[in-house]
Amino acid sequence: GSSDDLTFPLEIPPAKIRFTKLFIGGEFVDSVSGKTFETIDPRTGEAIASVSEGDKEDIDLAVGAARRAFDHGPWPRLPGAARAKIMHKFADLIDQHIEELATLDTLNAGKLFSWGKAVDIPSVANTLRYFAGAADKIHGQVLKMSRELHAYTLLEPIGVVGLIIPWNFPSTMFFVKVSPALAAGCTMVVKPAEQTPLSALFYAHLAKEAGIPDGVINVVNGFGPTAGAALTSHMNVDKVSFTGSTEVGRKVMQAAAASNLKTVSLELGGKSPLLIFDDADIDQAADLALLGVMHNKGEVCVAGSRVLVQEAIYDEFVKTLVEKAKEWVVGDPFHPNSRVGPQVDKKQYEKVMSYIEHGKREGATLLTGGKPAAKKGYYIEPTVFTDVTDDMMIVKDEIFGPVMVLMKFKTMEDGIRAANNTRYGLAAGIVTKSLDTANTVSRSIRAGVIWINCYFAFDNDCPFGGYKSSGFGRDEGMVGLQKYLQVKSVVTPLYNSPW
Ligand code: ADP
Repeated sequence: GSSDDLTFPLEIPPAKIRFTKLFIGGEFVDSVSGKTFETIDPRTGEAIASVSEGDKEDIDLAVGAARRAFDHGPWPRLPGAARAKIMHKFADLIDQHIEELATLDTLNAGKLFSWGKAVDIPSVANTLRYFAGAADKIHGQVLKMSRELHAYTLLEPIGVVGLIIPWNFPSTMFFVKVSPALAAGCTMVVKPAEQTPLSALFYAHLAKEAGIPDGVINVVNGFGPTAGAALTSHMNVDKVSFTGSTEVGRKVMQAAAASNLKTVSLELGGKSPLLIFDDADIDQAADLALLGVMHNKGEVCVAGSRVLVQEAIYDEFVKTLVEKAKEWVVGDPFHPNSRVGPQVDKKQYEKVMSYIEHGKREGATLLTGGKPAAKKGYYIEPTVFTDVTDDMMIVKDEIFGPVMVLMKFKTMEDGIRAANNTRYGLAAGIVTKSLDTANTVSRSIRAGVIWINCYFAFDNDCPFGGYKSSGFGRDEGMVGLQKYLQVKSVVTPLYNSPW
């Protein structure tokens, strides 16, 4: 298609970009170097704002502010209920600015505005509320010692945490990390992705308005190899929680090991399988398969990008899928009828297009899509490949775009083998009416989340994270709170006996 086919916005909500500096010690400040970088609107490829560019010196200042707030400030020492009260206020303030925040993520990341307004932004407020509910229920255990000793554990906040955020869910990932860290009593330095600094800065402003003490949340925009690397190798950071690519995850872990052995949790890439068994409702399965890889233009770490379909229904499934792929209208993410917006930036756009070219060259059959969808901006047609082999790059690598590879399997065992034939292990989906199949497959796939007859069924109470090269540690749920705490054992003789 050409740009004429695109759905253009009816009306863009007012987008006044209010915050573009670094947020350190409760103030918006310029970077030490005075440098700025341009942040881009992927709908046009044009700059929309100049943002302060943080580097090592700025990370130093931010870590210093967080350290002081942790060592001497009120936040870690407040009763949990008092922290919770402030977190609830923060959540309420987000609710009052849903439209403005959704606009920033659409402008900065090409995300669907309607979705941001209805789902993403309201749910980040709920993430804060979920973890606020835990803030006054963090406690250790009394231990049953084998000798005459009284012992208990304390759960203490781990300290200053570095939170490195990806660009595909700028708001969701910010709060998936910030909320449990706040509840635990940690202080933090957040490094948003360089593509999407705008909403993070707005959240910093709202945090201050809610009464979160200065230095508890610091936000340093900047690039990975400079600001990001400085945070991961900082001697005064106690933990890093990272979401991003597997390659950068390796660097994060190396930097942590080489500096002060800070603890690390990594939520990395995926090439998640969706297994569709021959007892499935073909219509529903095709809808689910498309949702799994086209949602958020395929820029989803848990995207179901490998769709495995059982032999008997394969041909009919393909027909239905290709027909339904047309429903995934590419267009301006502000338009309510658009379902696929632009890829986040030029680099991602070119990366996805080069995988598509690779797929064609390697001999896969292109069922639909495969081309840019507009003359301007980073739009790509929803793309489906079939007749693929295990060694093709489009089957092995995470593409992070609206690109599905479709494969056929015979028996359940074959399906399980194919599903596990990946270095990743983030998520998997199963479509079947058989309880036996669902039970067997969900226990046989090495992945952190299994969705049966659904996909993207996230919830604050439902942990997610990776097996294998998809990383380790879990976000969300009470297990997602644990990584911001550490265990201290306290032991004393039970009786006043000579020791
Ligand atoms: P992608 O390749 O999809 O852009 P990245 O893993 O590069 O994903 O980015 C995720 C986050 O990691 C971003 O905030 C980015 O700035 C940051 N980052 C990139 N390189 C490094 C690095 N060497 N050290 C720390 N953080 C980094």
